[in-house]
Amino acid sequence: MAAAELAALVRERQPCVALTGAGISTESGIPDFRSPTGIWADVDPLEVASIRAFHEDPARVWRFYAERIQALSDAEPNAGHYALAELERRGLVQALVTQNIDTLHSRAGSEDVVEVHGSIRAAQCLACLWTEPASTVLAQLEERSVPVCPHCGGPLKPGVTLFGELLPPGALERATELARMAGLVLVVGSSLEVWPVAGLPLEARAFAIVNQGPTALDHQAVLKVDGPAGATLAAVVEALG
Ligand SMILES: [Zn+2]
Repeated sequence: MAAAELAALVRERQPCVALTGAGISTESGIPDFRSPTGIWADVDPLEVASIRAFHEDPARVWRFYAERIQALSDAEPNAGHYALAELERRGLVQALVTQNIDTLHSRAGSEDVVEVHGSIRAAQCLACLWTEPASTVLAQLEERSVPVCPHCGGPLKPGVTLFGELLPPGALERATELARMAGLVLVVGSSLEVWPVAGLPLEARAFAIVNQGPTALDHQAVLKVDGPAGATLAAVVEALG
């Protein structure tokens, strides 16, 4: 029922832009951040995932991310990722903005993906801005505690946006532009708590939310589906025929 209603919104309120958060990847076995079983329940993000921590003790930040990059690389896209890729193929989703760093949207086949918090795909040199693919970074980490830039020898930083860092250049601008032209922003798996991304739905003419549990913007959504992303989005694709 809810899926049919959501399918109708996607069809009628074009163009549609998707906005995804950690909740779409939990079905791939990736823990979210802020729930009681989330990543930040056990570890203080300011100590392992902030730019200040990186400057003070890059080895500690890399110990955390080496494990995380490995876990995320081993995860597979789920029905929710595939459904959004299918909607893009059919021209029903123009682009996808994601807070996730796991690259599962691209691996599921989505092409226009704006990664507003960066990704694990590569690491970056803060000195010369060289980017180094995750595979060679992980290989370096077997021999040293902080990987170095092959270009200038400076320390490499994970390619994800750390706490206290600005978002990747251009990413938020593109995401805002997409939201402003959207007839519908389809929010999936985000509790819409992390700004500035959480403000994007408010830029669109309308937005719908698929999320397990309440979000900060439930009362302003044209439709809220409280359910799992995978099953819900697969049903939407089916309803669209
Ligand atoms: Zn460099």
